[in-house]
Amino acid sequence: AQERYASIREKPATSLDGETVHLHMNAGLMADLPSLNSSGAEGVGLFRTELQFLIRNQMPKRTELANLYSRVMDAAGDMRVVFRTLDIGSDKVLPYMAPQDEPNPALGWRAVRVALDKPGVMRMQLQALLRAANGRPLTVMFPFVAQFDEYRAARAEMDKALERERILGHPLPASLEVGAMLETPSLGFAPKRFFEEVDFLSIGGNDLKQFFFAADRENERVRRRYDTLNVSFLTFLEGIVNRCVDTDTPLSFCGEDAGRPIEAVCLAAIGMRHLSMRPASIGPVKSLLRRVNLAEIKAVIDEARISGEQSVRPAVMTYLRNQG
Ligand code: PEP
Ligand code: MG
Repeated sequence: AQERYASIREKPATSLDGETVHLHMNAGLMADLPSLNSSGAEGVGLFRTELQFLIRNQMPKRTELANLYSRVMDAAGDMRVVFRTLDIGSDKVLPYMAPQDEPNPALGWRAVRVALDKPGVMRMQLQALLRAANGRPLTVMFPFVAQFDEYRAARAEMDKALERERILGHPLPASLEVGAMLETPSLGFAPKRFFEEVDFLSIGGNDLKQFFFAADRENERVRRRYDTLNVSFLTFLEGIVNRCVDTDTPLSFCGEDAGRPIEAVCLAAIGMRHLSMRPASIGPVKSLLRRVNLAEIKAVIDEARISGEQSVRPAVMTYLRNQG
């Protein structure tokens, strides 16, 4: 399938009306890295670090992690890699950590909540990332931030780790960006100051949608019940885009929906300019983006919204079909 899109691999995802959308890939294993070149991705928009923890039967050591992250950065060369700190709990359970007996794990003790309550592992991981960067630029984001102070506390851990490296005489990253994933609706309504303080935001569409519709992403009965192109959800996403534009905050979208061409085109139409997806989706998404007029899609979305449609999908599909 990659071959089918080989002819556009080096071309930008620029729409007919001249809007360029940057396409990045999601990764988590060393085996994903060759896709950086074969897919035409502009970088790794989401590196899920928990996968390295999940495939072992004991906690990895700092030096092992530093080695691994360094190889990821080597493979990426000048391209940016967004390392997401450990996102465990809920559906991702480490075999060597005491299981939590929680009535609602998706709403439970997970991700940055664990990291802030028991900071040992996050400190080790941040140090491994700084050592791996070894003077190169570094980008880190924290998963599942639900309110401002969690971002501040996690960032303070990064500042401490930096200071420690400085005292030890180790090279510091040439540049450091520290962002948050926006995957709980609460963060979409955080104070303006929050948007100004983060270096960037990345929407975790899988979790954000789960919590927006109160529909478990792991539950077959409900996981496909609500459309991502539902007007309420798109309006919410558009609000986040606008707040980011107002505050000059770089924004990306990295849930599975970014890799679905119709969804991707609608996300681009409401203003998302950075999408991160599985590598195999880059070709199909780029192919469609290059054949559409985003301003026209936006008009179709707005019209469906005004006429009270539940989802903009039928209107967008009709429009695309009429375009051929
Ligand atoms: C998400 O929630 O959309 C996301 C990108 O992270 P994960 O699927 O790993 O929770
Ligand atoms: Mg998530």
